[in-house]
Amino acid sequence: MQTVGRFAPSPSGRIHLGNILCSLLAWLSARQKGGRVVLRIEDLDTARCPRKYGEQMAVDLAWLGLTWDEGPGVGGPDGPYEQSLRTAMYEQALEKLENMDLVYPCFCTRAELHAASAPHREDGQVIYAGTCRNLTPEQIAERRKDRAPALRLRVPDTEWSFTDGHMGPYREKLARDCGDFLLRRSDGMFAYQLAVVVDDAAMGVTEVVRGSDLLDSTPRQLYLYHLLGLEPPTFFHGPLLLTSDGRRLSKRNADAGLDDLQDRMTAAEILGKLAYVAGFNPSAEPRSAEQLLADFDWAKVPREDIHLPVGLF
Ligand code: GLU
Repeated sequence: MQTVGRFAPSPSGRIHLGNILCSLLAWLSARQKGGRVVLRIEDLDTARCPRKYGEQMAVDLAWLGLTWDEGPGVGGPDGPYEQSLRTAMYEQALEKLENMDLVYPCFCTRAELHAASAPHREDGQVIYAGTCRNLTPEQIAERRKDRAPALRLRVPDTEWSFTDGHMGPYREKLARDCGDFLLRRSDGMFAYQLAVVVDDAAMGVTEVVRGSDLLDSTPRQLYLYHLLGLEPPTFFHGPLLLTSDGRRLSKRNADAGLDDLQDRMTAAEILGKLAYVAGFNPSAEPRSAEQLLADFDWAKVPREDIHLPVGLF
């Protein structure tokens, strides 16, 4: 079976070094196996991800030489390739889950969810306490008069485990470590967890490469693959890039954005340096994505987050 990898950026700003490393890993991992690459723009949150940012992401990836075979600008059989245009597919999946009696409306406000007593995951996310899990139809009808509900998926008290291609074995008890999770927000926006599963399956993705901040989303996604009767891909979670003083790179770090870098460096210079800190370029010399194929090996890539050395970029 041919490998199909993907880039799935959320265009809430200009692409930064963290996204670039992630895209480079996805590209190398798929291309080295003779695989195809899909570009999907994860712009579910249309307020934060205006269309022009998605278009800019595609321009930037192309400039970097990270080519794709299906997606914006190229087309393909499984489009559209922008999540904001795919809501009918998420509706269908939601309906399937509703028919299994696994979905319920949740009326909790943000403040209620974040109440001081709420259990939190290590990364600060709230573990849903199940407040609205057993509302009666009368209670639901009553609360609907005040506000539109979000929709949550009931999770079982079982453990989900999988072996990540890079990070190794990972397990989570959904009920204890995550709780019933959101499928749709109260404003109607579909949740990332549902959309990503529907899309990766519909686009024939066999290999998901992304940052280790999403490792703990994977059991939820595997549960959705199981419920929807879909074949899950393999997963590779790569290290995150941190600034030299240990902060997460984000679109807010102007220093890491492509707009600034592009004025000073070629694509091969950027990729060569990134590959060097990620262990698969012997020096920080410029290398194009194509040129990096020969040296790329997941075994060389660290599992821990990478601190960017001062002055490298
Ligand atoms: N859209 C997500 C992001 O940019 C990535 C989701 C994924 O790779 O599954 O962080």
